[in-house]
Amino acid sequence: MSETQPTRPIRVRMAPSPTGPLHIGTARTSLYNYLFARHVGGTYVLRIEDTDTARSTADDERDIIDNLHWLGISWDEGPQAAGGEDIGSFGPYRQSQRMDLYAREATRLLESGAAYHCWCTPEELEGVRREHEARKEAPRYNGRCLRLTDADRARFETEGRQPAIRLRVPPEAIRFDDLIRGEVEFDNALLGDFVIVRANGVPLYHFVVVVDDEAMGITDVIRGEDHLSNTPKHIALIRALGYAEPRFAHISLILNPDRTKMSKRKSQTAITAYREQGYLPEAMVNFLAFLGWSPGTEEEIFTLDQLAERFELGAVHKGGAVFDQDRLDFLNGVYIRSLADQQLALRLRPFLPDALDDASVLRVVPLIRERLVRLADAGELVVFLVETDEQVGARYDADAMLPKQRTPAETAAAVASARDALEGLEAADFSADVLETRCRQAADEMGWKAGDFFRPLRVAVTGRTVSPPLFGSMELLGRDRVLARLDGALGKLTAEGVPTA
Ligand code: GLU
Repeated sequence: MSETQPTRPIRVRMAPSPTGPLHIGTARTSLYNYLFARHVGGTYVLRIEDTDTARSTADDERDIIDNLHWLGISWDEGPQAAGGEDIGSFGPYRQSQRMDLYAREATRLLESGAAYHCWCTPEELEGVRREHEARKEAPRYNGRCLRLTDADRARFETEGRQPAIRLRVPPEAIRFDDLIRGEVEFDNALLGDFVIVRANGVPLYHFVVVVDDEAMGITDVIRGEDHLSNTPKHIALIRALGYAEPRFAHISLILNPDRTKMSKRKSQTAITAYREQGYLPEAMVNFLAFLGWSPGTEEEIFTLDQLAERFELGAVHKGGAVFDQDRLDFLNGVYIRSLADQQLALRLRPFLPDALDDASVLRVVPLIRERLVRLADAGELVVFLVETDEQVGARYDADAMLPKQRTPAETAAAVASARDALEGLEAADFSADVLETRCRQAADEMGWKAGDFFRPLRVAVTGRTVSPPLFGSMELLGRDRVLARLDGALGKLTAEGVPTA
């Protein structure tokens, strides 16, 4: 516990800006906040940081809230649905609805002398910046408006200038004990006085985040490393406002395998995109949890509750966490295979063609389960069941149908022998086992390797070289349609000749 506030109940917050869809880094930060809160029995707050009205959108708020729910990350206070009511007694939880509080606190800073009005125009500030640049110094505000006379101020007012508000930053060293990174030190003498409220009256991020963290009783600020350099500004504000200093924990960035920063431009970063491909939320959560943390055991598969039980901020890695797509795919497969048929059928439903009825979905699940990395892979695997024979037939080409070193005529003979072997079966006997036995016999009789023999059959039946198990697929399709498709393939292989792709 902090020395200054030994008894405050633990409260953490997730503070996304709705200026884009839920980002994978934000999802991980949300998860770590959630796991920390659950581990210590604290309260988890969701606050929507929407003061940037030009860039904040209702759609992004919806995306963030929906996808957090989808991941199973729940919060105790804050908006529970996009545009919906708040829960909790520290609200409102959208910054756009808290402007009066920011105005009051800005006035308090002005009155105490900890902040001051700044009348500088953008052109004047640009001039200051260039001067620093010319002297090869870090650009910072030169404090001109601290030294104004009443006459200067009166003149600016008659000119119609609107003042911004700047914090007077004491030139002191700022030290804090980051729960992940250990002791961190900054020299605030390098900062310069920074703007906390723009000339148009809009309060800025550094200011509102500090005001809200205090007002919402936040004890632990857990956020991305990109905010580490903001923390000395926040501490300067906290001191100027006489607030309690929370503990800080900065989580390292997520990196591409080449150790560059994972950015929207270069990589897939929206959680929605993973959801749309059919990653399961359970797999995503496990993956995100291990992106920068591990429980120090060999175990790999955890529920949210199990993660919460083991999660320790102190065990979060300081170095960047490399995004390992193979691991995510592996985990997704593990979770997919752990689902019962009925559950997997339900999860697959949105990824499958509407024309496939629920009974067929349930029957196809055992056939495809082992082949799925993502749920969306299922669509392509089962579409042969709802395609017309013509649609499937349009895919018959030599590349797909002909085994190595077999001519169209030989392949036609093989398909014909399979057709003969199956034709005698009643619809009711058209089961995978029987079909397999018959086809293997036919292959033997023709002296073909089973793999070669099955290839044109698979293409004939599914239109694809990769499909669910062949005989299960045939069983699902049923006798008449299988025979019709074999006929179609024979037609291509003989009379019409197979087009060479
Ligand atoms: N709104 C900030 C962001 O989306 C987070 C602020 C914070 O955690 O302090 O990056």
